[in-house]
Amino acid sequence: MTEPMIKHSVVVVGAGFGGLTMAAELKRAGVENFLVLESGTEVGGVWRENTYPGCSCDVPAHLYSFAFDPYRDARVRYPGQQAILTYMREATDRNGLRPHLRCDTAVVAADYSDTDRTWTLTTTTGELIRTDAVVWALGQLHRPAIPRLPGAETFGGRAFHSARWDHTADLSGQIAVVGTGSSAAQMIPELARVAAGVTVYQRSPSWVLPKPAASFGPLSRWALTHVPGLHDLYREGLYHAADLVLAPIMRAGWSAGPADLAARAHLRRQVHDRELRAQLTPNYRIGEKRILLDSGYYPALTQPHVELVTEGIDRLVPDGIRTVDGTERRADVIVWATGFRARSFLSGVQIRGRAGVDLHDQWRRQGRPTAFYGLAVPGFPNLYMIAGPHSFTPSNSNPSVKQHQARYIMRCLALSADCGAPVEVTERAMAIFLARLDRALARTIWCGGVATAWWKRGDGTVTNAWPGTVSQFEHAIAHTDPAESFAKVAATVGARAL
Ligand SMILES: Cc1cc2nc3c(=O)[nH]c(=O)nc-3n(C[C@H](O)[C@H](O)[C@H](O)COP(=O)(O)OP(=O)(O)OC[C@H]3O[C@@H](n4cnc5c(N)ncnc54)[C@H](O)[C@@H]3O)c2cc1C
Repeated sequence: MTEPMIKHSVVVVGAGFGGLTMAAELKRAGVENFLVLESGTEVGGVWRENTYPGCSCDVPAHLYSFAFDPYRDARVRYPGQQAILTYMREATDRNGLRPHLRCDTAVVAADYSDTDRTWTLTTTTGELIRTDAVVWALGQLHRPAIPRLPGAETFGGRAFHSARWDHTADLSGQIAVVGTGSSAAQMIPELARVAAGVTVYQRSPSWVLPKPAASFGPLSRWALTHVPGLHDLYREGLYHAADLVLAPIMRAGWSAGPADLAARAHLRRQVHDRELRAQLTPNYRIGEKRILLDSGYYPALTQPHVELVTEGIDRLVPDGIRTVDGTERRADVIVWATGFRARSFLSGVQIRGRAGVDLHDQWRRQGRPTAFYGLAVPGFPNLYMIAGPHSFTPSNSNPSVKQHQARYIMRCLALSADCGAPVEVTERAMAIFLARLDRALARTIWCGGVATAWWKRGDGTVTNAWPGTVSQFEHAIAHTDPAESFAKVAATVGARAL
């Protein structure tokens, strides 16, 4: 039996960095009539889901943290997953967001009514929730991608994805890690510490830049503890430094040169064996796919009990993995560090907007998922996204982008309140945005590149990444007046009712 309808003014779906940022913006603006629905058992998003050994972020936490409750530790620059999760839980409590949160509740459908101009959300608990506005903050990296390999059913050991770590697995034997992206690079040194052997299966190497030490030195610690305002200054400095140093890498041309030299020098310094170095040297330009910031990965690969395998995998066999050259290597445990199905957005949720148009069908017809600054779509009044299409930054901190999106959504909600009606981005504003976006994308290193980045489809279409700096995103969105880009939506009498 379904429960009676409850009307809320805003429902935020997802309680990772995006959803919590949106919730905090609503709270700060004095909105109390909102709910945060989360399918997991707790807040945290990717930081709840990824518990593999060595899991940490690449961006210093002073920047990779909420603007409404910034990280203030004077000892640790790069906290591990557990510490990030604890910080997110504590920020939820400190900022009064907990009473708005409902966990173990996944949203499976959202339907807009043209007659009463509200959304009805259907949850896995069977409840129908009516709301004036909905903000999707489902993230981009939470659906594990595991290759379908012949013989998978014959493998006798344990096999699991990096984001679904099996903490009961015995790691003392022979471990196979499939994949060499960020998660693999973080876990391999940890696994090498406890396992008898680690075999790393690489399809294509990543470019790697050195990562500063996880903890601050004594001088920085003293300064961060005693100099007023230094935490904020450091955060601001990191934000601009990332834009200045890392963002130029994604522009095709000479600007990636210094990073290319730095990555090659890092490899030379840490790997002395020529053959291994050759195997670890990418055959594509730096920036085409996510650059790793890591100082422990290469040294781990040089250990005698760690083997790098560059032959493709042919199949799984009962006690391990066979590569295409016919070699079989034993594995007691296989870890799929193979990333996520990231290029389809709002997957698993049916969303029907004005006149019953299905969002996924609309994107399919367009040939790609699109959204105005990754947050709004024509035909879907008062429906917003955080971390929608083209709003992932590979070169700065993603929580910063989400913060800019949440502030803009607040402006749209205020416009809607002023109009006394839902608003939606106009086709014209969307067309202008897409034309600019495509021009900017064409100038990036991703277009025409040979590498397969997770933010790009096989046909070369970039679906997830923002092609500029985060300051450019901030500037562009701050100077885009919702009153000019969004239009009031009238009620349609006699339209499809729910
Ligand atoms: C291991 C790892 C390391 C990373 N490191 C960095 C880094 O160093 N720097 C960086 O900038 N970015 C990093 N990222 C990217 C990261 O995804 C973002 O930084 C950010 O944390 C994502 O937040 P989010 O809220 O958008 O999504 P998520 O964290 O994925 O949160 C989405 C939430 O929505 C919930 N949800 C999903 N579907 C539903 C539904 N239907 N109904 C209700 N709830 C639902 C999920 O359970 C989840 O809690 C990393 C990602 C991973 C996986």
